[in-house]
Amino acid sequence: MYEIKNSKEVNLSDQIRFRCMRCAECCRHVEASIMIEVKDAFYIAKHLGITVAEFYDKYTEMFMLEDTGFPIFAIKTIGKEKSCIFLKGKHCSIQTVKPRTCRLYPFWVFPEDDGTFVYNYSTERRHHPKGTLIRVKDWMKDFLSDEDKEYLLEEARSIKQIAVPYKILCATLRDQENILAKVLMYRYFMYDTSEPFIQQFYRNNRVLQDDLERIIKKFTSV
Ligand code: SF4
Repeated sequence: MYEIKNSKEVNLSDQIRFRCMRCAECCRHVEASIMIEVKDAFYIAKHLGITVAEFYDKYTEMFMLEDTGFPIFAIKTIGKEKSCIFLKGKHCSIQTVKPRTCRLYPFWVFPEDDGTFVYNYSTERRHHPKGTLIRVKDWMKDFLSDEDKEYLLEEARSIKQIAVPYKILCATLRDQENILAKVLMYRYFMYDTSEPFIQQFYRNNRVLQDDLERIIKKFTSV
């Protein structure tokens, strides 16, 4: 789960003071910190006219989660200031399709098992809480789409289903590269940006889960 420091939980009905100085500091010193989920990658790749796999290759860095060894991606950074690769001067060059993390900032959201969401507000920049009042509900209405919510719920569900067999297979099989390649292909790369995103996301998760479980069965029955 992606977390932003100096955060506190808020309710949708809360009103929060927030000021944006348009300083772009949130886009600097972001090495390994802006996660690129596949929904982000899909829409940015579509915007740039490249494939999702090309986008991940060119604009992100891969990391392995320590506990599960599961691959995740963060936006690439450049220069001494470790600025986001899409920052041009003080402007985001992919403003209309920027990742959900950036759209929601200074808020961040995670799903609960019962299908509800927890909302958090970060005051990591000193000037943030010194602005005008904004309603959390309005912010979410503007920046958290129904598809974002559907994605977050399916992501949380599927990761539980996939991470366990993935970890077992990585610990027991010699052919770990093949397992990693499957995860990368189904979780991140195998998308057609001319087709709707969410159906492909459900389908890929289902195929990957079935495939990993099939390999475990075959492996344990030998
Ligand atoms: S994607 Fe845009 S908003 Fe997000 S960190 Fe990069 S430049 Fe900033």
